[in-house]
Amino acid sequence: MTIINIENLSVFLFGIVIGSFLNVCIGRIPLGESVVHPPSHCPKCKTQIPYYYNIPLLSYVWLGAKCGNCQQGISPRYFLVELLAGLIALALHARFGFSYTFVVSFIFAAALIVISFIDLDVRIVPDVISLPGIIVGLFFSIIGYFVFADAFQIIPTPLSSLIGILVGGGFLLVTAWIYEKITGVDGMGGGDIKLLAMIGAFLGWPSIPVTLFIASVLGSVIGVGLMVATGAGRRLALPFAPFLCSGALIYLFYGEALIRFYLPPS
Ligand SMILES: [Zn+2]
Repeated sequence: MTIINIENLSVFLFGIVIGSFLNVCIGRIPLGESVVHPPSHCPKCKTQIPYYYNIPLLSYVWLGAKCGNCQQGISPRYFLVELLAGLIALALHARFGFSYTFVVSFIFAAALIVISFIDLDVRIVPDVISLPGIIVGLFFSIIGYFVFADAFQIIPTPLSSLIGILVGGGFLLVTAWIYEKITGVDGMGGGDIKLLAMIGAFLGWPSIPVTLFIASVLGSVIGVGLMVATGAGRRLALPFAPFLCSGALIYLFYGEALIRFYLPPS
């Protein structure tokens, strides 16, 4: 089977179109604006973007990273998010095929993309995604348990999802409390706690320690790298949500293997 075929092309196109919508969410959710109305407009000059300038990936390249109307620069984030959504759709399809697991994990990944880029942008983990995300994750696990069997053992049982919500929310709550008591600094935001509860809802409780571990390693490596590169001090505060989201995504692909490695069935 070749990599470039109609099926993969369709999945990639589907991914970048959704990515285009995710860009709208990333731009508008922090402002409290509707994500469906009005139609896409230039963030600088507010002109409505005609459909021929609103083609995912291509328009950005074709217009030279500038608005077709006011010629002001457009953030590379638009291109990056579309590409990322396309690639993640491809990777999930390669891993899970067209299955219930694919649908659930793509919705989950899309939420992680929006949360990560909003946190990078404005340092907020939006409650309007993480809180409904907790309910939706639990709901998908119930549907998975009673209706669609998950052949990949990624979607947790409702019980594991429920424990995941409690462990994800509870663990960080306790850590944040201890950290604050010791250092007097408000370390981990409440938004990260709700995000980890959402991750627990979608992936089950075993995902929590794995996600936290990967996020801490990534965060330390990139944090130290940035401190060295920029000369910033120890107080360099990185948004943590993108690391938690990366950890959850890695778990989505390799979690089953990791769990089987550490917790062999007795
Ligand atoms: Zn413009």
